[in-house]
Amino acid sequence: MILEGKPVAEKILKEVKAGVEKLGFSPGLAIVRIGEDPASKTYVGTKLKRAADAGITAREHHLKESTTGDELIELIHKLNNDPAVHGMIVQLPLPPHLDANKILEGIDPEKDVDGLHPYSLGRLVAGNPTFVPATPQGVMEILNYYEIDPSGKDAVVVGRSNMVGKPMAALLVNSNSTVEICHSRTQGLGAHTKRAEILIVAVGKPKLIKEDMVREGAAVIDVGINRVEGKLVGDVDFEALKDKARITPVPGGVGKLTVACLMKNVLKAAEEGKM
Ligand code: NDP
Repeated sequence: MILEGKPVAEKILKEVKAGVEKLGFSPGLAIVRIGEDPASKTYVGTKLKRAADAGITAREHHLKESTTGDELIELIHKLNNDPAVHGMIVQLPLPPHLDANKILEGIDPEKDVDGLHPYSLGRLVAGNPTFVPATPQGVMEILNYYEIDPSGKDAVVVGRSNMVGKPMAALLVNSNSTVEICHSRTQGLGAHTKRAEILIVAVGKPKLIKEDMVREGAAVIDVGINRVEGKLVGDVDFEALKDKARITPVPGGVGKLTVACLMKNVLKAAEEGKM
């Protein structure tokens, strides 16, 4: 069975649009992009479009590659103090001379709609989240939409980044799954993944997860995005698994949810800022 992301994303975006109409004002989203990374440019373009569709006023602040950490922090502080900005994101990855951890710590946690500030991540781990990073939040939306209840299930997360793997594991633990996290030092990956009733893969390696590494009937959520011979593919061998597991496609799976959940976070920031 194929777990399509489109109907889930459409449902969320419709809810966000209705929420914005109810607010009575247009929430402001500031998107900071540094340098000329082509994928970042595309992602930001999609975010600007979806925001406009939902009635959110998104503005891109595009800075040159050579921007210093101090200059970037200065802009972030300015946006922190701008009442028209309800949510702010700094598009990652940053150029190598900038320390992402330090930059993200400059964002006011009340405007941290990417959920990557240590305060937001800490609150998530404590089981009392503020803003949940959009990609793992999107995975939970997919599970919920397709009535895959994580409670009591064995879940395996492959990948341990702050953006996807770690918050994903926290969300699953908070939803009463028994969670295992795998990464590049994990020995015998297949023996771990085969135990999963829910398998989330966020690595960035095409066909890392093969048919014999997945349990029959498992829910497989493929977060990976890889470009192979000009085509987008995930981390899971989709063709080999589409009849054996319930699986998200790439493209058309989690990717659609990431932007929708970001917009959901912007609405939440505006609602809470109003109170
Ligand atoms: P990172 O590169 O930050 O993290 C990758 C993780 O994979 C690391 O924890 C790494 O382990 C682990 N890893 C690497 N090789 C292996 C291996 N052979 N076996 C097991 N684990 C391995 O990536 P992100 O988390 O940011 O993104 C992961 C993927 O998801 C990428 O393809 C990215 O493009 C995609 N993505 C998709 C989004 C969407 O909207 N669909 C949004 C965000 C990301 P270690 O920690 O040991 O190095």
